[in-house]
Amino acid sequence: MAGSPRSVSVALSVTVEGDGRVGLAWRGEGADARGYQLLVIRSGARRSYTALKLSREVDRYAITNLSRHQRYLCALLAATEAGPACSPWYSVTPRAGLAPREEPGAGLELLAAHLARIRRLTLMPQDQRLTAFWERSEGFVDTIALEVRARGKLLKRLALEPEVASISLDACRGVRLQNGESALVQVAASFAGLAPAASEAASCTPAPQGGEREANQGHPQRQLVYPFLDLGPELVVFEEDAGETSALSSSASILCRACRSRVAWRSYRLVCTGCGAEYIPTGRGDYLEAGRLRFGTCRCCLPKKILIQRGGSDSLLCSASGKEHIRLPGEGAEVRLIEDLPFGLCQCCRPRRPLVRRGEAVRCSKSDELHRQEGGAWALAPSQPVFDARAIDELLDAGLAEIGATGVSRGR
Ligand SMILES: [Zn+2]
Ligand SMILES: [Zn+2]
Ligand SMILES: [Zn+2]
Repeated sequence: MAGSPRSVSVALSVTVEGDGRVGLAWRGEGADARGYQLLVIRSGARRSYTALKLSREVDRYAITNLSRHQRYLCALLAATEAGPACSPWYSVTPRAGLAPREEPGAGLELLAAHLARIRRLTLMPQDQRLTAFWERSEGFVDTIALEVRARGKLLKRLALEPEVASISLDACRGVRLQNGESALVQVAASFAGLAPAASEAASCTPAPQGGEREANQGHPQRQLVYPFLDLGPELVVFEEDAGETSALSSSASILCRACRSRVAWRSYRLVCTGCGAEYIPTGRGDYLEAGRLRFGTCRCCLPKKILIQRGGSDSLLCSASGKEHIRLPGEGAEVRLIEDLPFGLCQCCRPRRPLVRRGEAVRCSKSDELHRQEGGAWALAPSQPVFDARAIDELLDAGLAEIGATGVSRGR
């Protein structure tokens, strides 16, 4: 019977196959499943959440390299004609000889208690442009839904990867914001179409450079930050230090190193009025020539910030926001943000890596695993039905799961 999602049950069997290894197998009863999500929660002082979106023909999967000393909760979510259907949850400690235990309670209800939520939304109004920054709680999330409205009309709806924690909205992204016209931004987290009731909302009014504060006096300031056009340090951590930085403030005129003309702010860029050379403030009271930067400038901030390379890897991060800038194979020195990737991120790696087209297929740029479009999302069609969980625990233990949060620069 089509109707209530509860009318469909999903049978999941969970086996401890050895130390650190858990085997999962399933079949959807009466469910014409369109795809599966394998749900894993690492319990403990700091919970971690992982969901693997698997193609509909997959009916078993093993997770290896789990910690023998942790307890995990596992369940399987099936996408069906009648909506999402969830198996019971199993509590499992991956140590040889320990049997998994079925948790009491309905699968979907337990899942509802573990959905991520948007906690805080901040907007930066600029010239025909705004940047939204948000934070979310830990929990299951596969889409960040963002809507922007003006004059009561929907201007844009975006479905973003959960890894994205800020985005700039302007004509380049097809959002036509007018100066002096209030814009409303709403951000919500959702998972498998299940959305927590609340979304965060905030308003701001785009305005030309220098007029942002005045144009936004009518909005609650708590949710606003302003572009920082100064050479002084961006963050004043201790109030008593604030006085010392004033000597470096915007009035200190700087001269172009090449032609000795005056350098001034234009459209949030620090540009030489003579030769047009661009300079980048370091946020520590200093500035650098954009043309001489090793990795160039970021795509996420205005004023632009320096790109830095994370030690031991080839990934580039914005020095202010921490946002990753991705070099796709075959695109030379071009870099992209996660929100501009053509196929989004993979299901096979942690941290997730970009999906790329190779021949007819879409594959993970790191593992080369095949991904298939199912129900509007990219699902993993695994060649080896094994997930190496080592990276999850390593990321969590190193506290890296928190890197790349917002990096909101405080306006003055
Ligand atoms: Zn010059
Ligand atoms: Zn940036
Ligand atoms: Zn991958």
